[in-house]
Amino acid sequence: MSESVGYTILLAKLVSVGLFVQFCLGQTNSLEGIRVHDAPNYTRVVFDTRSKTKYHVFMLDNPKRVVVDLDDTAKSQKLDPTQVESRVVAAIRRAERPQGSYRVVLDLKRAVKAPKTFALNPVRPYGHRLVVDLYWGSSEQKSVVQAQLDGQRDVVITIDAGHGGEDPGAIGVNKIFEKNVVLSIARGVKRHLDATKGFNAVLVRDGDYYVPLRKRPRLAREARSDFFVSIHADAFRSPAVSGASVYALSRKRATSETARWLVENENRSDLIGGVGKVVLDDYDDSVAEMLLDLSMDANLVHSIDAGETVLAALSEVARLHKGQLEQAGFVVLKSPDVPSILVETGYISNPNEARLLATSKYQQQIARAIANGVREYMRQNPPPGSLIAVLSDSETIRHLVKRGDTLSEIALRYDVSAAAIRSANRLRGNVIKTGEVLIIPRLGQES
Ligand SMILES: [Zn+2]
Repeated sequence: MSESVGYTILLAKLVSVGLFVQFCLGQTNSLEGIRVHDAPNYTRVVFDTRSKTKYHVFMLDNPKRVVVDLDDTAKSQKLDPTQVESRVVAAIRRAERPQGSYRVVLDLKRAVKAPKTFALNPVRPYGHRLVVDLYWGSSEQKSVVQAQLDGQRDVVITIDAGHGGEDPGAIGVNKIFEKNVVLSIARGVKRHLDATKGFNAVLVRDGDYYVPLRKRPRLAREARSDFFVSIHADAFRSPAVSGASVYALSRKRATSETARWLVENENRSDLIGGVGKVVLDDYDDSVAEMLLDLSMDANLVHSIDAGETVLAALSEVARLHKGQLEQAGFVVLKSPDVPSILVETGYISNPNEARLLATSKYQQQIARAIANGVREYMRQNPPPGSLIAVLSDSETIRHLVKRGDTLSEIALRYDVSAAAIRSANRLRGNVIKTGEVLIIPRLGQES
């Protein structure tokens, strides 16, 4: 079974629900597909587009519907509204709109909160995507979940301080050892997360000793982690190079890792896939491979989302090396079902950054930023059955400000006024900072 077969299945699925749309020529962008996934407390609608799209998403009442405008996007075949299978979206239809943009209307079966919308860059097998998350969580649902609140589990975050023991990692200016800097940061991240309701952090190492690379993600899986973050510091021969980076696994490595998992039979029986609870022992090899492939894909998409959120949070306190998420084949990132990222906190070969990274003040600033990013991501993607899945239903919607966001765009995205956001966050003007978390007042709650 190869990737192309998986892709064909995906396409067949799109066609079968009548949502796959052929693009036409003449526009700068084209809508190539729409996918709808019901999650326990929200429904995710994904728009596949050929290139990055500018968009506006807002809600309308009577009847309840969500409008998605894609700028400069080609018209496509009429969407078949009858075959959507979702607890939330009743139908998807196209609506007329002048000026070359493409308008999709999602008719709703039930009330939802202001949609959370974000764009994702291509990750094979996916191209550019616009994601619209529709959260429900009405008062009647709250009373049900409230009853089981005590039984809800914490999300588990495994934090891996790189290197240790005989392996010092990078050695920087003034003989700073990477292994010591990253242990201090990892402990800080743990403190911040443990202090947050619904979070429980586990350290891979809590001392100066070495843990084999393959064992690190294994420990995360054994702890039934929801997320894994490995913390490092870089060194380079040129002292001029500086800045923090965040990595997710590369797609190529994810594919080769699929094969390795299939060979190691002892791993199979406890593999829980991102496509649901899947015990691969129950399947023959070709089906197992496809399921594992899907799990790897879903996991990679989550890792990339999470990495981008952590990068935005880091940008508030640190210089960034490149300013965008990077992908590489790090061994510690190879879990098939635990979203994983690796944070390079800076270059200890750069005199300035080495000086900063040696101070506990800066170590704790970095630790807080990583914790903020992880928390934000987990709250936006709460694992089913977790306490934060319950809390996120009743809590206010938050928006992590990403580079290039403006207040007016954010207001438009959540369909509230800029004034309402300003007042909810006690902002004096329209200036917002990357990495800042804004409270988004709900629809109808504006004063
Ligand atoms: Zn390292």
